[in-house]
Amino acid sequence: MLKRKYYTLIITILILLLLSIQMISAKTLPLMGIIITIDPGHGGRDSGTLYGDILEKDLNLAISKQLEEELSKNGAITYMTRNDDIDLSSIYDSRKKRGDLYRRLLLIKNNNSDLYLSIHINWYQNSTYKGAEVLYHSINPENELLANSIMKEFETTLGSTREVKKTDLYMYKNTTTPGVLIECGYLSNSTERSLLQDEKYQKKIASAITEGVINYLKEQKKLKYIV
Ligand SMILES: [Zn+2]
Repeated sequence: MLKRKYYTLIITILILLLLSIQMISAKTLPLMGIIITIDPGHGGRDSGTLYGDILEKDLNLAISKQLEEELSKNGAITYMTRNDDIDLSSIYDSRKKRGDLYRRLLLIKNNNSDLYLSIHINWYQNSTYKGAEVLYHSINPENELLANSIMKEFETTLGSTREVKKTDLYMYKNTTTPGVLIECGYLSNSTERSLLQDEKYQKKIASAITEGVINYLKEQKKLKYIV
């Protein structure tokens, strides 16, 4: 009889312990179980925009690596479309850029991503243009919501005064997985050019994106563990 009481007590304690572990995890790891593919734009033969020897592809990769760390710290399962200075085209592709983008899309799909984040840097002939911004394609209504959530963080933490825009680029109209194109700032603006090369600022961008992603998932009730 006593033994049975002990068993019940031990099992109750274990259940409570498991529940509290889950609650603590959900609080500290809000992105637990969420699969995110990070897509550092350009790479290899395609440097993207540039200023002297400062190449967009390198900054995209550096920011993406910070983003990978931030998202993982918050519990997400992360994948990168590239981890090095490479493009994803094949020697058999007659259209290299299209081949590169096609393989990025395949990776997003094959990773079973809940969402994707494409990381780029902007350029404009008028050098006063500055600020991070988010672009989306309306193929999926989720895209605009995600874009707005990240843009809100860019406004509050980076002081960006830019706005969410639509894009019609090949890559973004060919996937229904929720996701956005993030332009982290303008390489053509001297102040922002210095900031974008600074690791601390890169981290700041990464945590703003992460916050935006968490808030979007929370608002849409898409977190896998309720906080
Ligand atoms: Zn780009």
